[in-house]
Amino acid sequence: MLGLAEYGLIYSDGLLKYDFGSFHPLNQLRMKLAFELIKDFGLVDRPHVKVVQPTMASEEEVLLAHDEEYVSVVKDLSSGVHHPDSFRYGFGLGDNPVFKGMHEASLLHLGGTLKACDMVQNGDVQHVFSMGGGFHHALRKRASGFCIYNDVVVAIRHLQKEHSVSRIMYADVDAHHADGVQIALYDDPSVMNFSIHESGKFLYPGTGHSDEIGEGEGRGYTCNLPLRPDTHDESFMKAFEEIFPPLARAFKPDILLTQFGVDMHFDDSLSHINLTTKSYDMVARTFHKVAHDVCDGRWVCLGGGGYSSRSVSRIWTILFARMIEANPPTYLSERWRNLYRKIAKEDPGEELFDDPTLFGAEDAVVVSETRKAIERARRVVSALEEKGAE
Ligand SMILES: [Zn+2]
Ligand SMILES: [Zn+2]
Repeated sequence: MLGLAEYGLIYSDGLLKYDFGSFHPLNQLRMKLAFELIKDFGLVDRPHVKVVQPTMASEEEVLLAHDEEYVSVVKDLSSGVHHPDSFRYGFGLGDNPVFKGMHEASLLHLGGTLKACDMVQNGDVQHVFSMGGGFHHALRKRASGFCIYNDVVVAIRHLQKEHSVSRIMYADVDAHHADGVQIALYDDPSVMNFSIHESGKFLYPGTGHSDEIGEGEGRGYTCNLPLRPDTHDESFMKAFEEIFPPLARAFKPDILLTQFGVDMHFDDSLSHINLTTKSYDMVARTFHKVAHDVCDGRWVCLGGGGYSSRSVSRIWTILFARMIEANPPTYLSERWRNLYRKIAKEDPGEELFDDPTLFGAEDAVVVSETRKAIERARRVVSALEEKGAE
């Protein structure tokens, strides 16, 4: 690659300003701890790795996925102007409290995602991880689930408009269904939208069932894989491996855009799924391999949910190591562990990976329900394979 950087990592401390306050589950120090761990392992000093700071997206870019009226309300609230009906736009106590500077902070996160897409499309890097992205719940006129601007939908519209990309695959492994992305792209056959998550019967936002497969022209281009509470590595890995790779191979995208929320980890209190680092390591390696198999390695990975700093920092480090083909070490350094204790006020443990034998055999209901969800998702894959063979 003639000395060109092949891998990108998008981060700056400015991203930490997206902060709903100390009582909110989203603690952005998780990103700092992840970035510090990635650095501590020497991953950013390796040849062909480029660390890039995000820059704020423009308002015009936000409008690719949001209404002008909503953006102006966000701007007002962000600058301290009171809006009596802000709850109509999703703001208020609970999930999305108003905070000063939230418009600008959201633009920076969105800008990181767009920069990641541009870097891959311009051939600057092959793979890039933008840990500040992945706000998959935000709706056209409403904040939802800690998400103000939906950078995923903006990125997809940007790729279509500015880079003339005709086929995009979006794959989301966050514990929560990517409802905002699904709603925006439900009738669009040029985007394959795959989401594996805890079933909406048990978890916010309540959607993402197997029978949601798209509508109109987009019918057959949405694939949901809902999981039961208390799913462990075994069923998760089976479900992911049986559906994602063949779906991507049948769709043949020009670029792979992934959301790497890690809230299905057992440490995370916002879902009821109990995965270990073993599942996330497999997902990272599979995304990487499939990107090379189907779209010349063009892979943009975004962050996402994750409410245990201990799991977020370790899993995003494993992801980045797999992305740049570095072997992740076994032990966490004393230097990073000290930093972690200082910032998170808890002990991060000694090892990068969890003990994969932590959980015993899965419940029979989990096994049989996962089997059914796989069979239903498999129909979307088969229909697409048949279409391709015509
Ligand atoms: Zn690669
Ligand atoms: Zn989530």
